[in-house]
Amino acid sequence: MTVHERNISASIDPVKLDRLAEVAIKVGLQLKPGQDLLLTAPTAALPLVRKVAEHAYRAGAGLVTPILTDEAVTLSRYRFAQSDGFDRAAGWLYEGMSKAFAANTARLAIVGDNPMLLAGEDPIKVARASKANSIAYQPALERIVNFDINWNIIAYPSPSWAKQVFPEDEEHVAVAKLADAIFAASRVDNDDAVASWQKHNARLRSRTEWLNAQRFSALHYSGPGVDLTVGLADGHEWQGGASTAKNGITCNANIPTEEVFTTPHARRVDGHVVSTKPLSYQGSLIDGIAVKFEQGRIVEAKASRGEEVLNKVLDTDEGARRLGEVALVPHSSPISKSGLLFFNTLFDENAACHIALGQCYSKCFVDGGELTPEQIAAQGGNKSLIHIDWMIGSDKIDIDGVHADGRRVPVFRKGEWA
Ligand code: ZN
Ligand code: ZN
Repeated sequence: MTVHERNISASIDPVKLDRLAEVAIKVGLQLKPGQDLLLTAPTAALPLVRKVAEHAYRAGAGLVTPILTDEAVTLSRYRFAQSDGFDRAAGWLYEGMSKAFAANTARLAIVGDNPMLLAGEDPIKVARASKANSIAYQPALERIVNFDINWNIIAYPSPSWAKQVFPEDEEHVAVAKLADAIFAASRVDNDDAVASWQKHNARLRSRTEWLNAQRFSALHYSGPGVDLTVGLADGHEWQGGASTAKNGITCNANIPTEEVFTTPHARRVDGHVVSTKPLSYQGSLIDGIAVKFEQGRIVEAKASRGEEVLNKVLDTDEGARRLGEVALVPHSSPISKSGLLFFNTLFDENAACHIALGQCYSKCFVDGGELTPEQIAAQGGNKSLIHIDWMIGSDKIDIDGVHADGRRVPVFRKGEWA
């Protein structure tokens, strides 16, 4: 460790960092004795990687295998690599990951990369590399999104990310501020973080149980610039907080998490809606989005910034113009109260009610694990290569649940649970 690195990590509270590692193992993963753990992280996050390994072994982990990525190494590829190499990906590595998950290895991802790392690089090379990587990663990713095993994502305040969130501050101040924001959002800024997560999960579960009992056929949003009816998929199921993976272990896939979410009906969304926060997408910022839906499809899309990028995204495939997720988050959520834009979906999607363009989650259907892709599509589930969340919530939004017979029940008033 260099002197410079030591100074930077000194601005991160070691007690809270240790608690974050403990929460990842005990709540995020509920790692079982004898279970192996595969973890990925940027090199900047090594102090957290080491803490995670310690808590994993204390909890009885079989073998902890870290895989690290490095921003300087990534940039070297874009600056110096031969052009024909950009369609390559480490398929052998992802095959190994997939085999590990098939053998019940748990998965922890520590995020903390600079969200703008590739913003200045050749967009064609970025797109080629990202496509090759997506294709190679697909089999391993499927085991994760289908919850074959317990998995969890947490965040580390890397200096390059911190400087994006707090550009005016010196690096060590920015890191300290981002660290505090991550610790607060991840609910480790108190003495019994594990208990506070149990309480939080119970609260989210009472919301999903209420929504699942209501069986609304649609949600109606109203507010400034918003008159939107989002039909819900047939047999949809609300999810939030902890979920039980197919290996029987209950995990909290995202830390932090504030949302309850389900699958909208890909062909029953009508009206117009505007975004309430900027969307950071692959190094570009898209802001002031205003779209109009007809029978589930976006027929008009404008943005005050990044309109070209937005329209390119919408043209990815047929499903990119339709919704794959609808999520409810109160305006009073701790992440919303921080008032920060994190440039990272793990945080930003938990600041406000949001919708996602693109792929739906099979998990958000009753008995979703047993449905075929054709059944999911017939019930209104959307299919796409993309899944992009953007924020439509604020303290001015009212949401009604609409029953099949037209009866309406208040769900949100002025951005809060009714
Ligand atoms: Zn979401
Ligand atoms: Zn989403």
